[in-house]
Amino acid sequence: MYLYNSASHKRELFTPNSPDIVKMYTCGPTVYHFAHIGNLRTYIMEDILEKSLRYAGYNVKRVMNITDVGHLASDADTGEDKMLKGARRENKTVMEIAQYYTDAFFADCDALNIKRPDVVEPATNCIAEYIHIVETLIEKGKAYLAGGNVYFDTATLDKYYVFNDHDEDDLAVGVREGVEEDTNKRNKNDFVLWFTKSKFEDQALKWDSPWGVGYPGWHIECSGISMKHLGEDLDIHCGGIDNAFPHHTNEIAQSESYLGHKWCNYWFHVHHLNTDTGKMSKSTGEFLTVSLLKEKGYNPMVYRLFCLQSHYRRNLVFSWENLDNAAATYEKLIARIATLKEDGEVDQAAFDALKERFLTSLNNDLNTSLAITAVYDVLKAKCNDATKLAALKDFDYVLSLNLIEEAGKIRKQQEEEAAASADPEIDGLIEARTAAKKARNFAEADRIRDELKARGIEIIDTPQGTKWKRI
Ligand code: AMP
Ligand code: ZN
Repeated sequence: MYLYNSASHKRELFTPNSPDIVKMYTCGPTVYHFAHIGNLRTYIMEDILEKSLRYAGYNVKRVMNITDVGHLASDADTGEDKMLKGARRENKTVMEIAQYYTDAFFADCDALNIKRPDVVEPATNCIAEYIHIVETLIEKGKAYLAGGNVYFDTATLDKYYVFNDHDEDDLAVGVREGVEEDTNKRNKNDFVLWFTKSKFEDQALKWDSPWGVGYPGWHIECSGISMKHLGEDLDIHCGGIDNAFPHHTNEIAQSESYLGHKWCNYWFHVHHLNTDTGKMSKSTGEFLTVSLLKEKGYNPMVYRLFCLQSHYRRNLVFSWENLDNAAATYEKLIARIATLKEDGEVDQAAFDALKERFLTSLNNDLNTSLAITAVYDVLKAKCNDATKLAALKDFDYVLSLNLIEEAGKIRKQQEEEAAASADPEIDGLIEARTAAKKARNFAEADRIRDELKARGIEIIDTPQGTKWKRI
């Protein structure tokens, strides 16, 4: 599989450290509010990555954190903890907020067929791991204490900006306006590993540490949780493009300084979902959720298809019109699949040829729009329906668009409608009319037609026989 690696700025052949297992880490949500559909674009594409790796034959162990402490209102270590803001907004405790929005996040994931990672770890579970890393960094001279906080010293690095091919807009996300300079820092890029002093003394969750009672910085969470579950070498790390700087840049700085060797080989970043006024963001308070899409009558699969129709390394513009187009495409696609019937044996050679096209699209840096084209290729293929159904079922392991289930629902509905309108007496009269016509007794045939009409039944003669409907 070829994947674009943001660390090398190239498409590379993906080769895991060990052939037996792909170690994959995903930055999880900050659970102070609902996930918006922009966040969920990132999780959908990461889900496609994981399933494509599995589809290509790899075993995958995927770990995700839940950020329930330490993510401050600005990614540049200032401002209030987002969790505290959420708790205050809703008059609840931080832990209540964390539980509520963690559950809401997974309910959204379920609605969008996003598989749950193998390990999900709340950041507050791993305080001892962070303290150990921070202690080691201080011992190695890579971190220093200042004003009660522990900072990572970026001057000790040969190279700090790893992902320097991003748009200025994306880089600027980490340094939002209104950010005050922290005078404890030796260098402007230094970042907090452990806080004991914050302007916001009412921080709800605090733990004892060698540097006083406090709480971890956001970046150290992902290094600590990843190493706890995946060890010292990571194959692939993913997140939204805004995580590249400063979050992932800082993760690399501290992890490699702690380990003394390279940490992660591939970095996978999903570009943003934008509205026509800019990036969808929780801090502006204007964002769309999966529940809202459902309230408006959209099947969540329509949003998943909308995301799959474009490449993950392109910004995607959301509009209701674009979503309606995806809804129409989804409906037509399902209706076509609903016409397929299990009609015998699967033609293995035809199946393999269809699969090859699908796999090639995914292996080409997850070209999901071409993978969707491969679905249409199945529908157009010159093979029996059983082969087409088998191919679609196989592809849907990765696409997870409920292709077979939704088509099954349509078919069941059609059968129920047919059963509801079945009437043996009318069928008997139609048979008698057909017999009369065959015997050239047209007077009797017309009489039966009139009798049916009087009962509110219209009959339609077709090449496949006589059909009827209520008028
Ligand atoms: P958060 O819950 O804010 O920590 O973000 C969860 C994930 O969503 C991270 O991987 C972010 O990079 C990603 N993300 C944030 N905003 C967007 C957006 N507008 N489009 C796509 N992904 C986003
Ligand atoms: Zn992270």
